[in-house]
Amino acid sequence: MRVPTKSALLSFAEARRMVEQHATKLSASTPEFVDLLDAVGLALAEDLRADRDFPPFPRATRDGYAVRAIDLQAVPAELHCIGMLKAGDEAAGFRVGVRQAVEIMTGAAIPEGADAVVMVEYTQAAGDRVAVKRSVRAGENVVAAGVEAHAGEVVVPKGTRVQHTTVAVAAAVGRAELSVHSRPQVAVLATGDELVDINLPPGPSEIRNSNSYSLAAQVDEAGGEALILPVARDDAAELALLLRKGLESDLLLLSGGVSMGKYDLVEEVLASLGAEFTFTGVAIQPGKPVVFGQVAIDGKSTPFFGLPGNPVSTMVTFELFVRPVLDALGGASIEPLRFVQARLAEVFSTKTGLTRFLPGRLKGSVELPEVEWVRWQGSGDLMAAVKSNCYIVVPPNRERLEAGDAVTVLLT
Ligand code: AMP
Ligand code: MG
Repeated sequence: MRVPTKSALLSFAEARRMVEQHATKLSASTPEFVDLLDAVGLALAEDLRADRDFPPFPRATRDGYAVRAIDLQAVPAELHCIGMLKAGDEAAGFRVGVRQAVEIMTGAAIPEGADAVVMVEYTQAAGDRVAVKRSVRAGENVVAAGVEAHAGEVVVPKGTRVQHTTVAVAAAVGRAELSVHSRPQVAVLATGDELVDINLPPGPSEIRNSNSYSLAAQVDEAGGEALILPVARDDAAELALLLRKGLESDLLLLSGGVSMGKYDLVEEVLASLGAEFTFTGVAIQPGKPVVFGQVAIDGKSTPFFGLPGNPVSTMVTFELFVRPVLDALGGASIEPLRFVQARLAEVFSTKTGLTRFLPGRLKGSVELPEVEWVRWQGSGDLMAAVKSNCYIVVPPNRERLEAGDAVTVLLT
């Protein structure tokens, strides 16, 4: 059997790099046209282009008067107000001449002849005369036509995952439908004799299968479509059968059965199906036994992850390693992990040797972002995970972190 030895633990950075490298070789799901709002969370299969200049006309960014800056070199000055323009009004009927002004509202087109907007706060109107107290630079409070984007220019490149900002741009360029990559199908296979499904009463030594559901939720958030398979008992024949089923999907996620126990059969059974293992363990906690590889059956090669069964390990290893593969399968450019720094609220000590990703809670203020530990009973402690909103990253050589230290935080 070609199960690699457990001794070769990769560092977190190496393992992540290997996953990303492998991900770039995967082919993306097929493109399809969907309604604009159905595209949210999926990756663009086309470049989005501006259909006209943005802005399409020189746009006033303040309420006030459209003027010629040259007329306000000496202030106070009195101008002749020749009319009014609100957003949406046709500006073509106006021409601002010497010592003239047009009253203008935010979002309206600047009329010909004017080159700036003086804010209403610096003016005093009396009939068709307006007294101006302040000078303006040419261009002040005006966004020139085409400076945000030119007609035909790519404004959102393909591979971008559609989010609300993308939706805004698509709407602005007149796209009611977008070409996006379909959701890759991800088989989710939980293993373990102790597991019962959530609609059944657990026996005294049994627990409910939460991993299939948390993984399905993470898959959904990452733009995939989860297919939850029946739980596999810790039995090689049953596992092999369900594994084969799972390998028909674009990606297979297993939970449990990758540790060193007598009934941890996942690697052995994968190896019997001809799996190639990219790694079988990473120097992290939680999640050390995580396994990544691919199996080719009938000419179709399917990547898989064996995620450790402890619920927090399952969640963390998904965030650290599975997302890049889902990006690639879904046609999205691979998103880097989002690390930020925050001040640690309380002292913490641990053992060295592993990079730790521990449940944390970001809080604090604009001036002082802080992160605190969520006390936990280890990687099985779901009740701690649900209180966290980030992971605190402890490098493998740090034994003690003091209150007030700047620490790295992984946002999810
Ligand atoms: P394993 O990785 O199979 O050794 O499992 C490690 C721990 O995670 C054990 O305490 C299991 O009961 C628990 N566990 C495994 N699979 C699941 C699951 N699908 N849902 C909830 N807990 C699980
Ligand atoms: Mg197990």
